[in-house]
Amino acid sequence: MSKNVYQFIDVKRIDPAKKSISERKINFVEIYQPMGNEQSAGQADRCLDCGNPYCEWKCPVHNFIPQWLELVTENRIFEAADLCHETNSLPEMCGRVCPQDRLCESACTLNDEFGAVTIGNIEKHITDTAIAQGWKPDLSHVIKTDKRVAVIGAGPAGIACADVLTRNGVEVVVYDRHAQIGGLLTFGIPSFKLEKDVIQTRREILEGMGIEFRLNTDVGTDISFKDISDEYDAVFLGLGTYTDMTGGFDNEGAKGVYNALDFLIGNTQNLMGITKADNAQVKPYVNFKDKKVIVLGGGDTAMDCVRTSIRQQATSVTCAYRRDEANMPGSPREVQNAKEEGVNFEFNLQPLDIAVDEQGTAIGIKFVKTQLGAPDANGRRNPEPIPDSAFVMEADAIVIAFGFLPSPPQWMVDAGVELDARGRVVAVDNSDFALQTSKQNVFAGGDMVLGSDLVVTAIDQGRKAAMGILDFITQ
Ligand code: FAD
Ligand code: SF4
Repeated sequence: MSKNVYQFIDVKRIDPAKKSISERKINFVEIYQPMGNEQSAGQADRCLDCGNPYCEWKCPVHNFIPQWLELVTENRIFEAADLCHETNSLPEMCGRVCPQDRLCESACTLNDEFGAVTIGNIEKHITDTAIAQGWKPDLSHVIKTDKRVAVIGAGPAGIACADVLTRNGVEVVVYDRHAQIGGLLTFGIPSFKLEKDVIQTRREILEGMGIEFRLNTDVGTDISFKDISDEYDAVFLGLGTYTDMTGGFDNEGAKGVYNALDFLIGNTQNLMGITKADNAQVKPYVNFKDKKVIVLGGGDTAMDCVRTSIRQQATSVTCAYRRDEANMPGSPREVQNAKEEGVNFEFNLQPLDIAVDEQGTAIGIKFVKTQLGAPDANGRRNPEPIPDSAFVMEADAIVIAFGFLPSPPQWMVDAGVELDARGRVVAVDNSDFALQTSKQNVFAGGDMVLGSDLVVTAIDQGRKAAMGILDFITQ
């Protein structure tokens, strides 16, 4: 029987149910209930099969979305999982954390009137269900080579590179300074967006494929880059971006002021039970119970900080942002989740300095109110201070979430890897060997090349670099 392509008229878009607010406010577990087979098949069947799959083009890894949606309607989950993995090394992670409202789903033909197909949640459903039923990548056809590649950094870029190389018969060893793989997937993104056993499950799959992880190994301290570079046929660098952006105002270093990533990493490590005895990278655990918290910033990291503070039982949590809500850089979905969980939003406020007591401890933030001025060259309206509008908002704890700048290690610079003016590694994907750096045998990808970006773009770069490495080591 031929498919009823008008299914979307009768079947509305239904997002997965969220757990109750009372449960969400105290638990560090994912807030969305899984979509079962029936709901997933019904939602997948809404795909119009429009013939011009803009969703596929807007997806940075160009997933075969309409094709795996169709397999889901036929309950052919293992085939759907195989197809997902042809373009994406970590589909269960992307299904959870991609900002679909800016990527695949924003491009769905049904978007305007009927509501986009729930692409991200179906991708998550396919992978979670297949893995739970015993799906494993089929490597029976892989012909082993005698080539060996080192990957430094077990974040999404490094994992994706290792995945593609292994599927092409290359032996891969992945080094990371943390005690678990995943990079920011594990330690940056809180478990209410991505539970940590999802990463452990993926680690078991990758190890089952033959990938070796050498964790708790800081390259530059525990092993030199030269030793690695000498031992392998090529090296991939996926070290991420870890320099916190600061506001440049007075008393930013006061007691009671925290940077976003250290706060989030410390909280996740505490939940995972990782202590200093296990790993040198452990960040202090800070608990905001019974504190008045202000988070500065309007991006996804700021949303992760406010929602973490709520779960730590802070007395009040305020997100202060210098533009209006329409101009927030964060995903509207995450802003909505934060609002539901009780976060208070204050817009059009520019911090001037941190107010401190005689001991130098933060007691609040001096703000000036802002209004949006004329658009700049990029079309973005900059906030302008309103005269005589300064005031102090009280706080016991302040988190600065202004984003991240590149953090190239000295050993990499000493080895001759070229950086651009902003400190990003220079590597392009349309060169002879995709994502090769200025050092012939060294490739790079992810945030350290793009600047702080997304999980899915890091995966895309890791996969492309793997193709560049394959071309290079087999030339
Ligand atoms: P990373 O994930 O940073 O991984 C780099 C790895 O390199 C780390 O494991 C690190 O330990 C290791 N490393 C670094 N130096 C060394 C060394 N010398 N020796 C050994 N190992 C080393 N993106 C989304 O798409 N959706 C989201 O919801 C989202 N939320 C985010 C929330 C937060 C708080 C943050 C900070 C980022 C978020 N992002 C999100 C962005 C996303 O996590 C990153 O773009 C992505 O993880 C980059 O991948 P990567 O592999 O380049 O780097
Ligand atoms: Fe959408 Fe991300 Fe999946 Fe691509 S990888 S289909 S952008 S959720």
